[in-house]
Amino acid sequence: MEDTVTQFSNCFILRNHEILKEDLFIRHGKILNPESLFYDERRQAELKIDCQGLLICPGLIDIQINGGFGIDFAKISADSNLLEEVTQKLFPYGVTSICPTIVTSPKRVYDQVIPNVKKSKGGKNCANILGLHLEGPFIAKAKKGAHPENCLKDLSNGFQDILDLYGSLENVAIITLAPELDYPHFPVIRECTKQGVIIALGHSEATLEIAEAAVRSGAAMVTHLFNAMNGFHHRADPGFLGLLDSIEHQSVFYGLISDGIHANSQALKLAYRTNKKGMVLVSDAISAMGLKPGEKCWYGQHEIELKDSKAVIAGTDILCGASTSVYHCMKNLIESAKVNLIDALEAATLHPAQALGIADSKGTLDFGADADFVLLNSETLEIRSTWIHGECVYKK
Ligand code: ZN
Repeated sequence: MEDTVTQFSNCFILRNHEILKEDLFIRHGKILNPESLFYDERRQAELKIDCQGLLICPGLIDIQINGGFGIDFAKISADSNLLEEVTQKLFPYGVTSICPTIVTSPKRVYDQVIPNVKKSKGGKNCANILGLHLEGPFIAKAKKGAHPENCLKDLSNGFQDILDLYGSLENVAIITLAPELDYPHFPVIRECTKQGVIIALGHSEATLEIAEAAVRSGAAMVTHLFNAMNGFHHRADPGFLGLLDSIEHQSVFYGLISDGIHANSQALKLAYRTNKKGMVLVSDAISAMGLKPGEKCWYGQHEIELKDSKAVIAGTDILCGASTSVYHCMKNLIESAKVNLIDALEAATLHPAQALGIADSKGTLDFGADADFVLLNSETLEIRSTWIHGECVYKK
């Protein structure tokens, strides 16, 4: 059984920025090159699946998700199975990989969560865990958003501050920080990048000049573009928005919450037209995702309620993360910002994988990549089945 070759036929597949009428072959949880199967091994697939004209695209990857369905990832501990609970509920939305995200928290939360979120291969029980995204506490007070001010920290001791708070970086994929705290020599950005952690710039008051210098020192992303950063000023300073079209051919990825609430559709179009290759859709979903209006839940240190389908700090109007899935963000990007299907799919699959430097195995249907994919109706975008490492984890 282990050696079984499965052929998905009568389907379209997204490969190399194109939608092709082509069959997909998988074996051992990987995408297989059928030529070597036919000509070198002189074999055919043992199992054939008729896809009835559906589109196969890579599984969705959400690199900024704080929880969902009433569960806050800041509550992860040694004996909890919160990642399993949340990601199983994301399978119907085509999500196959996530970076569990922790917002600014007291040290005890990092001590409890970080050792217990191991990078791991997914399957029926849980999506692929690509490593933690630690958002804060090394951010600007003036752009803290919903991050608790009493937990914010500076980087006056450089990389030692990172180690003192987070401990090991072994389970960490992304750190969002404000580059002005690491200015002018960026020792933290340099050392984290050297250790394979992606630095995303966010919750910051930095000018474009500082941001560009941070990118030259290794920063590779901008966190939730438009939110928690200086606005675009055409004369004084264009801010992080200027990164979309700068730095001599160096590509910067930028997270975008295209949920219809965190960015106007015209702003989404502007970002898309300026730099579509760097666009990474993120949900920034909090535990409120999947709850009903009026129901309350926890996000880091705050109690949250859903108000007019917006997640706000209970009793206020302060927006606090989002409450839709990355799948809905992708749909909304197509519907409201008129982004074409291929670009929208790649913004939720290929680009996040590229941002993490894992596009040889994730976010792609290239031969040799992990068989994480979704079968969907290319017109209605309805998800019919979700597969992780060649195993069907959801079927409608
Ligand atoms: Zn944020």
